[in-house]
Amino acid sequence: MSRRSPTKAKVSRRRPADPSDRGPSAATIQRQLSRAFAEAWQSFSSGGTLLKKPRIAGIEFHVATSNYLIQVTYAQPHRIQVSRRFTHDLSAEFRSNWRMLRSSCLTDATAPVAARLWPEVGESIVQLSTSFVVFHELFHVLNGHTAYAMVRSKGKPRQLAFGEAAQKVAREKKGKAPPSAAETKRMLEAYYLELEADDTALQWMMQGVPLSPALVRLVELVSGQVAARDIAALDNGWGRVLAFRAMIAALVVTVRLLERQRGDETRTPALTHPYPMARLFAGAFTVMEQFADITRAENGGDGAKIVRLSADEAEDLDTFLRMIARPIVSAPWAARDSTAADDGFEVLGPLVVTEIKNIILGRNPETEPVSQLLRIQRLRKAMTKRLARHRCMGPVIGSTPPPAN
Ligand SMILES: [Zn+2]
Repeated sequence: MSRRSPTKAKVSRRRPADPSDRGPSAATIQRQLSRAFAEAWQSFSSGGTLLKKPRIAGIEFHVATSNYLIQVTYAQPHRIQVSRRFTHDLSAEFRSNWRMLRSSCLTDATAPVAARLWPEVGESIVQLSTSFVVFHELFHVLNGHTAYAMVRSKGKPRQLAFGEAAQKVAREKKGKAPPSAAETKRMLEAYYLELEADDTALQWMMQGVPLSPALVRLVELVSGQVAARDIAALDNGWGRVLAFRAMIAALVVTVRLLERQRGDETRTPALTHPYPMARLFAGAFTVMEQFADITRAENGGDGAKIVRLSADEAEDLDTFLRMIARPIVSAPWAARDSTAADDGFEVLGPLVVTEIKNIILGRNPETEPVSQLLRIQRLRKAMTKRLARHRCMGPVIGSTPPPAN
């Protein structure tokens, strides 16, 4: 006997609401995360020798009811768990910024063109955002972060969890004493790992992953055909501009949300506690490197990136700042709670453009988050050495510096 009532059957036959209207539901986010994980593995295995397979028995992915946000468990097989709360929070983040994203990503389109393109742009942003979450976690494992953390903790916890909201490194007890040198070091290292996971995830998303169906449709709509394999390889033109805007939008949505979940201590503007904005600056910089095809940045003695730009690259950089970064980071993002103003995005977001220019031209930064970022980047050489034996990837694409000559 069928237990399905006629009303239920009716409901299930109803067309799903157009996601381009209001932003993705938590269920859509959950589906996208699972799909992103499956595609991520595919992109690694098609990369041939990139993955040193014997080191990793496997990685599982779950969406679960739990009280943490996202957690990577170091065990065999490794496990990445995303909480249902996270899928709800990400959905809410999208929904409260959905109209703004539409108008900032399609700022130069007429109303009819915007109406035609937005479903694909919107879907691309959601897909890139969930891919970013998955790749960020995967690269914590593949870059050797979880193994390194395990060694640092002397292997005590049998299942070491590397949680996204668990970076309350210094002063758990909220003591009055300033953090010790060891605490400061641990915190900076932890933040370095976050920046590295972001950096490799973004690079892989632009170079190692085939264009998503939504991006293919989008580029076809604006330029008639797609010859590119991945985002970095897209031809100059509006399709490329929109794809990179979607990348920046996905980065900002995701980082804003993840950083808001950190403990209050880590948001205190003190030198030992990096600002969330430092992470956003670093991510925008990585996307810029791909857009302007500047992937040969040298590392200065102090870990800062040095780039001498050709005239073409200078023009691409200018295009990136003017056409890609500015419309997104200077848009009126929704402040979702009373503490949102503290994370500095509303104030500092518009400065991303100025600061990227400062970094690349070797000028002094004007904001505290970027000063911090440069300080954290000075750990690069030492950290690369420490992590080397834990890495599960072959040569990683992009800006990971070559071993010292
Ligand atoms: Zn992380």
